[in-house]
Amino acid sequence: MENRVVQGRMVTPQSLAELIEGDSVMDAENISDADRDCPECGENVVEVGYMPSVTEFVTGYKCQECDWATTDRDE
Ligand SMILES: [Zn+2]
Repeated sequence: MENRVVQGRMVTPQSLAELIEGDSVMDAENISDADRDCPECGENVVEVGYMPSVTEFVTGYKCQECDWATTDRDE
């Protein structure tokens, strides 16, 4: 499934990655359900792998219901 609803709006892999990164990204993989719940509100968390630059690959996590987001870079 390509597009998902996050905080009430439809996101593509690219737009979700940019939401998590807070900046533009070069490329993003498909969005999938992360094997975790949001630590803030307990709702579902989605994950997306993306490349913020040619030399870096990051997995980003975003709650579908609130502002919580993180990446494997921050953990
Ligand atoms: Zn949440």
